[in-house]
Amino acid sequence: MINTADTAALFEQPYAYRRRELIEPDWTRLPGWRDVRREQWESAQWQRAHCVKNVKQLRELYGDLLDERFYADLVADQQRSATMSMLVPPQMLNTMVPHAVPDTEAFYADPVRRYMIPVASDRLPDWPSHPYATRDSLHEHDMWVAEGLTHRYPTKVLAELLSTCPQYCGHCTRMDLVGNSTPTVDKLKLTLKPADRYGAMIAYLREHPGVRDVVVSGGDVANVPWRHLEAFLMSLLDLGTIRDIRLATKALIGLPQHWLQPEVVEGLERVARTAARRGVNLAIHTHVNHANSLTPLVAKATQTALEVGVRDVRNQGVLMRGVNATTADLLELCFALQGEAGILPYYFYMCDMIPGAEHWRVAVWQAQQLQHDIMGYLPGYATPRIVCDVPFVGKRWVHMLTDYDREHGISYWTKNYRTSIEKDDTEALSKQYAYYDPIDTLPESGQDWWRKQQAEA
Ligand code: SF4
Repeated sequence: MINTADTAALFEQPYAYRRRELIEPDWTRLPGWRDVRREQWESAQWQRAHCVKNVKQLRELYGDLLDERFYADLVADQQRSATMSMLVPPQMLNTMVPHAVPDTEAFYADPVRRYMIPVASDRLPDWPSHPYATRDSLHEHDMWVAEGLTHRYPTKVLAELLSTCPQYCGHCTRMDLVGNSTPTVDKLKLTLKPADRYGAMIAYLREHPGVRDVVVSGGDVANVPWRHLEAFLMSLLDLGTIRDIRLATKALIGLPQHWLQPEVVEGLERVARTAARRGVNLAIHTHVNHANSLTPLVAKATQTALEVGVRDVRNQGVLMRGVNATTADLLELCFALQGEAGILPYYFYMCDMIPGAEHWRVAVWQAQQLQHDIMGYLPGYATPRIVCDVPFVGKRWVHMLTDYDREHGISYWTKNYRTSIEKDDTEALSKQYAYYDPIDTLPESGQDWWRKQQAEA
């Protein structure tokens, strides 16, 4: 006979699902927002005007809840390492230590803080950057066929309409182009006027009817004035050859107030209805890395987009140590996306090989293990794929490597199409392309090998 305790043991699972309904954290717990009213909080203009852009503004918000040690750590990072300037909307700050009055230790440990407000002590002292880290690690700029238009896959393009966002993430893979220059990174600049840039993109797509899928991105499309974005999207729909349009916006979670403005909602409905009539799949792709970022306002913005006819809202998160790289964190996030916010868990990208990212990056074998461990809990269609964006190759599922030198942390990948810069490369489809694990995750012998490589370089 099995007693109750045995039954519990029999059904104990590595992860125990428990529904958690979304809660908007109380912003008045922070000294600088003690008197902020709901109508201010829900205003996109108020949110944009009260973004935190520097240490002085962070200090005005938190006051002495945070020790001087934290502020000094932040200044040190901005001067020595940061690849992105600071820009955090109140909505995002409010999801850091969301249900308590923060103190220094809790703020340091917070997963959203770890990637939105990086500090010097977060970075790895020995290997802050991988020796093969580069500014444009995916070579998107190299593959521009018009300013801002990356043609990397045969049937798909990425249209970077602008180089700004309502929020700047410390790990941004487009750190080469996006945001303001920092003391260590002089950013690439878009040079054409926006109307000319958009016109050149449309002209390229008109001349290349084999391209059927456009990711409309940046930066973040939430920073494109709505009438300009709507005109660009209608031009895409008028081409007739474009069958999929994905709008890339982290603002859906960083500034959901933007996507709830009447002008934006009404305009989105016009575009969505036109897309639906013409049989084009219009979707929003957002970027959520932790369950704490999901609040009722995010769910409302998502629901509104779906109600006005957007076919789907999907999440492309980034897998990062200290943020979400555990089975429990990934599943919590996916259940909150799928069950509470109406957002499909779609991809988790491995963090790209940009400078200063080693403390966030995970090894390929760790990503494979995480993919294994999250299988079977979510509906199959809502089980995200963990992907590695291999330089010169593109997205590959993490189990698709062809060879793996675990000692030196080098995985090898192949591909089945040419990018726009490989038209004449006869070996493009037969050679292997390398991807590198963070060196601190390697066995001691592998770490020694890299130290020797560095010394001889
Ligand atoms: S929202 Fe996207 S493009 Fe903008 S800084 Fe973050 S990761 Fe980069």
